[in-house]
Amino acid sequence: MKETQKIQLKGLTLEELQNYFISIGEKKFRGEQLFNWMYNHLVFDALELKNFSKELRKKIDETCELKTLTLVDKQFSNHTNTQKYLFSTHDNKKIESVIIPDKERNTLCISTQVGCPLDCKFCATGLMGFKRNLTAGEIVDQYLYSAREYGKEKITNIVFMGMGEPLLNFQNTIKAVEIFTHELTKGLSRKRITISTSGIPHKIIDLADYNLRVKLAFSLHSAFEDVRSKIMPINKKYSLKENLEALKYYAKKTKTRITFEYIMLKDINDRKEDIKALTKLCTQLPSKINVIPFNSIKHMNPDGISAELESTPYEKILEFVELLRNNNITVFIRDTRGDDIAAACGQLAIKHN
Ligand code: SAH
Ligand code: SF4
Repeated sequence: MKETQKIQLKGLTLEELQNYFISIGEKKFRGEQLFNWMYNHLVFDALELKNFSKELRKKIDETCELKTLTLVDKQFSNHTNTQKYLFSTHDNKKIESVIIPDKERNTLCISTQVGCPLDCKFCATGLMGFKRNLTAGEIVDQYLYSAREYGKEKITNIVFMGMGEPLLNFQNTIKAVEIFTHELTKGLSRKRITISTSGIPHKIIDLADYNLRVKLAFSLHSAFEDVRSKIMPINKKYSLKENLEALKYYAKKTKTRITFEYIMLKDINDRKEDIKALTKLCTQLPSKINVIPFNSIKHMNPDGISAELESTPYEKILEFVELLRNNNITVFIRDTRGDDIAAACGQLAIKHN
């Protein structure tokens, strides 16, 4: 039987696994056992299902698939302790996940799509275009593989800041979060999971109503509609104004504060008037700003506005942040080394596709 015809068990919820076993004439509790093997004990091979009979193991092995990805490369940076894992999917697409250690936490950054359709002018993933959505299994496996390599208990946070727009792959993103946080998997707390979006307002509302209560980051990058539309074409379809309403709803419903991500782009969003507009925007809802030095995308040989983008000089970033703080805005600066979460995440798996 060809691999692609096999039933994909990775990415199924507890209920779906239970239903699968009932459908093949097995007991429901096998679903819970398999859930535990795959998501807790990080088993990727049906033949390793120790408390299953030999026949059942063989049957699952022949008809089902327990792994969606193959780990093809691992990179470790001595300088920053960052670990990168390169995976290949069944259809030979390449995706990357990265672990970024920090003082008291280790954050895993994962992808939800191969490429991205939103074409943000500063983003390497955007420049490569859109290939396809990842399945829930492929999203979950980025975590499970990384957990096996790195130590499950050592991964303390997950950010959906890799390739792609999570809210355009809504169901699979939600399913992955439900598996990550499930009580049976001794999962991560919802507070330690962040979904980052460029802004699809009705999906932000859906996410709030879904009651996942994960943290939400919004890629703001300008508080002005016209500037934002220039660097993020999606803003022409879903305005900042519409997004802000949705974000207020999210913050209220989930009782969390929104993180605004803000890449510093020289002469584009680092002016005096940007400070004023940002201050006005941030005081409308519980929020904080993560200021991110722009990571060059010159290696992509971009044209148009993408070719002109430059990071604001670091001195000026410090000044910008200081002025915001003077206005009582909570601001954090991301690291400049290019190994930081957003910077490292924004640039994944490009050369391999
Ligand atoms: N699509 C989602 C999540 C993936 S992008 C989103 O846009 O929010 C994750 C983060 O990487 C975003 O904040 C994005 O703005 C940032 N990023 C993209 N390109 C970057 C670059 N060249 N330098 C620094 N950060 C970048
Ligand atoms: Fe897509 Fe996010 Fe990159 Fe924009 S910044 S192109 S939404 S991955």
